[in-house]
Amino acid sequence: ILEVKHLGKAFGSNQVLRDIDFSVSPGDVTCIIGPSGSGKSTLLRCLNMLETPSTGEINYHGTDITSKNVNVPEYRSKVGMVFQNFNLFNNMTALKNCTVGQVKVLKKSKEEAEKKALYYLEKVGMAPYINAKPKQLSGGQKQRVAIARALAMEPEILLFDEPTSALDPQMVGEVLEVMRDLAHESLTMIIVTHEMAFARDVSKRVIFMANGVIVEDRPPKELFENPKDPLTKAFLSRFR
Ligand code: ATP
Ligand code: MG
Repeated sequence: ILEVKHLGKAFGSNQVLRDIDFSVSPGDVTCIIGPSGSGKSTLLRCLNMLETPSTGEINYHGTDITSKNVNVPEYRSKVGMVFQNFNLFNNMTALKNCTVGQVKVLKKSKEEAEKKALYYLEKVGMAPYINAKPKQLSGGQKQRVAIARALAMEPEILLFDEPTSALDPQMVGEVLEVMRDLAHESLTMIIVTHEMAFARDVSKRVIFMANGVIVEDRPPKELFENPKDPLTKAFLSRFR
């Protein structure tokens, strides 16, 4: 459903991504790992149209979404994103956070939107907190609301950019648990993460990036147990 071809991105003279090629099939869980500054976030931001690629194509069901006439909010409802810092609307309750996009972008009625929102808030274990504002919630709870908000749009693909990196250690597990459930339900996900055990257990393949290129793109068992490239070896040795 997603095919990235020769994707490149430069900020001025800083070539951040070069010749990125990969494709994603329905139900795939792809984890992206790599050192800081390797371009992981920039890649996800390109996939979500938060950045415009400098070169290359991103084909979603065969349509290049970098071409002019793509409806960006509608595309983002299909290819949603969960951020490291939650990006919740702080003045809105958990419930409202999960309905506003549905009403504005999907043109759902308030009732319909609330029904979906409640379903997904329940699914992530946040039903008791529907009327809480973000500042009343822990980091793990905020991230679960952010995931419910993304799910309420019923996306085809969900992108995660280090969803647990801003969390206190004791809250990492509850968020990974939700993501594990989604993987078991075959939601198509692309996840940038430093949680190697999670990547190994859950993903169909792992992409290792360094210096703006894909160095290895292989099933997790192969990549973790038998990395080919010296850069991959050096990176993974930091997690042992
Ligand atoms: P981290 O693990 O620290 O999150 P990353 O792999 O996500 O790193 P990116 O955030 O994609 O890395 O950054 C890659 C490079 O792109 C860095 O050199 C960064 O300075 C540069 N960069 C990212 N966004 C911008 C921007 N908006 N303007 C200019 N340069 C940028
Ligand atoms: Mg990043």
